[in-house]
Amino acid sequence: MHEMALTSNLLHIIREEMKKHGASRLLRARVRFGALSNVVPEALSMAFEVLTHDTEFACALLELHEEPILLACGECKKEFSPPSVASSVFAPCPHCEWELGHRVLSGKSLYLEHLEVE
Ligand SMILES: [Zn+2]
Repeated sequence: MHEMALTSNLLHIIREEMKKHGASRLLRARVRFGALSNVVPEALSMAFEVLTHDTEFACALLELHEEPILLACGECKKEFSPPSVASSVFAPCPHCEWELGHRVLSGKSLYLEHLEVE
């Protein structure tokens, strides 16, 4: 389950951020993950729970937000969002119907968007 590794990475970043800001208590962490990032939100939540159990983060809330996929057409370069994740790589462009070589502009990332601390 790679969510364990992802989460322990996230916790590391959170700790660093809190140190930087002299915060002692984490209330809420908002994480954005791309629809193409292979992250299973349920697994991420579970990993967070397991890894924060008995730590200073035990009462913190983890919020997960899915970032939609944004592609740039391989032919006309216009931007569009495919109707579903499954069809994303070969989704026909709504402007010119081209299906190949789309560039992924967003939807692959996983990052910490916001921290609420005390
Ligand atoms: Zn196009």
